[in-house]
Amino acid sequence: MSKLPDPFLAGMARGWQVTHGERGLPERVTCDVAIVGSGAGAGITAELLTRAGLSVVILEEGPLKTSTDFHQRESEAFASLYQEGGARKTTDEGILILQGRCVGGSTVVNWTSSFRTPPATLAHWQQHFGLNQFTESAMAPWFAQVEQRLNMQPWAAAPNENNALLRKGAEALGMRAGVITRNVKNCWNLGSCGMGCPTNAKQSMLITTIPAALDAGARLFHHTRVQRIEHSGGKATALICEAVRISGDVVSPRTMRVVAKHVVVAGGAINSPALLMRSELPDPHSLLGTRTFLHPVVMSAGVYEQRVDGWSGAPQSIHVDKFVDLAPDGPIGYKLEAQPIYPGTIGVMCGGYGPRLAERVRALPNTHVTLALLRDGFHDQSPGGSVRLNFAGAARLDYPLTDYVLEGARRAFLSMAEIQFAAGARSVLPFHEFAEPYTSWQRAKTAIAELPMQPLMVTLGSAHVMGGCSMAADESRGVIRQDGRHWQIENLSVHDGSLFPTSIGANPQLSIYGVTARLSAGLVKQLTGKDINLV
Ligand SMILES: Cc1cc2nc3c(=O)[nH]c(=O)nc-3n(C[C@H](O)[C@H](O)[C@H](O)COP(=O)(O)OP(=O)(O)OC[C@H]3O[C@@H](n4cnc5c(N)ncnc54)[C@H](O)[C@@H]3O)c2cc1C
Ligand code: SF4
Repeated sequence: MSKLPDPFLAGMARGWQVTHGERGLPERVTCDVAIVGSGAGAGITAELLTRAGLSVVILEEGPLKTSTDFHQRESEAFASLYQEGGARKTTDEGILILQGRCVGGSTVVNWTSSFRTPPATLAHWQQHFGLNQFTESAMAPWFAQVEQRLNMQPWAAAPNENNALLRKGAEALGMRAGVITRNVKNCWNLGSCGMGCPTNAKQSMLITTIPAALDAGARLFHHTRVQRIEHSGGKATALICEAVRISGDVVSPRTMRVVAKHVVVAGGAINSPALLMRSELPDPHSLLGTRTFLHPVVMSAGVYEQRVDGWSGAPQSIHVDKFVDLAPDGPIGYKLEAQPIYPGTIGVMCGGYGPRLAERVRALPNTHVTLALLRDGFHDQSPGGSVRLNFAGAARLDYPLTDYVLEGARRAFLSMAEIQFAAGARSVLPFHEFAEPYTSWQRAKTAIAELPMQPLMVTLGSAHVMGGCSMAADESRGVIRQDGRHWQIENLSVHDGSLFPTSIGANPQLSIYGVTARLSAGLVKQLTGKDINLV
């Protein structure tokens, strides 16, 4: 199979308007629409708006890195493509948070799993937040368009051993294991999606919508952070931008002023509400930054006789949904998937130090890891976290872990261990400070029941950050209206994962693409009178 071409090489040669902030920003730029960020929501918005003939400026604080820069090395990728070098955490350091920070945003480093928003989630939004424009039938055509545009198809090749073991164990216990849909074209099955796709197979925003927007005349500024939004009389009047280095440090006190008729904020959850806070946008009901959700993830490792080589092959191709749709007033639900075995990441997450850690790392070739995504936001006892600003104006996320969420983590440890033993594990290690590798299901069951479920003892991570600028049918319940506009700032919209009033209960990228495609088409209609579709 041949490697697909890097669209940026040809595009830059054709004269795409791309500015590296560190090399100097103009003082003033004007446009119809300025978009903050270049990830999932920003990419879809940029493509639709430029195709409608609007002049668009895309502002991205991270670097422009393309397939020639992707060498399947964690050390390089985390330092250059992730927020805070991959070390972002909640304030108490209880949850590691992975988010992208580069042209293409988190879609450059994501693992390509694609799910429509579960109908139960959309129904909950209607019932609790009045989102009657986001019914299953209203969203279906938008999901279908995105699936076509980004080549989303069920993974047709055999799952790698890391995923096959999840299916084997689940099926041995009578549970259904589904095949995951992925947004790839000519995928080489390398497995390094989390470090940027070196073959351009992953249909991230870097490969699809951002090049389409640049071809249609959009201007892209990277290494360029939007520091604040100026506003007066209920309207955004300018974006104040600063050039930043890859480290995030500001290059100089000089700023660029972007004057746009309309502003779309798409910096992702945590960063979008932080920008609105830094800009002192009105927040009459104190909702901004609240209800930030993470799908807190717990993990469990099984060691097998055979080699697993879980760093190789499509990272996620099998999922188990038996535990995800529990009654909303009951215990928290969780979705099970495989966790790719990137040695640096797993070495940090698996716990232990000295000889114990060395033994765990030595066993990695024979190790399979399952993860459980806890479905937060559907119950009073999982209200999510709150974004706030530190002394320098940078975002921080307080996410108190309630007993309700932590007991869900215990149940997930039990489900994962049972499945791993059913698939033939020699031993199973839940990622918990006081856990040991257990050599039988009986032993694991007793020990997990006794583990102290406390923050910092349970290893928790997240790659799915949602909420903080939630959408609702009235301003007392949300920051953003159903058409994506801010309730108090008329010419400002939010188009990213921060819109969601709960977590999704499934990997969120397709939800973000679908919702923002619908919002962008609505915005095009409002601004130009034209009807537009993604395909
Ligand atoms: C490692 C990893 C694996 C994942 N795997 C999957 C998966 O398999 N399936 C799935 O559905 N989801 C997955 N996700 C999640 C999914 O990719 C994200 O939910 C989605 O990309 C979020 O879209 P967004 O538009 O909200 O923000 P992002 O895509 O995160 O984009 C936001 C962009 O805005 C930029 N930005 C922020 N603030 C500013 C500012 N002030 N000025 C300028 N730029 C700014 C950021 O640098 C970033 O590039 C994964 C995420 C990660 C990190
Ligand atoms: S598995 Fe991921 S990194 Fe490898 S070729 Fe496919 S999309 Fe690219």
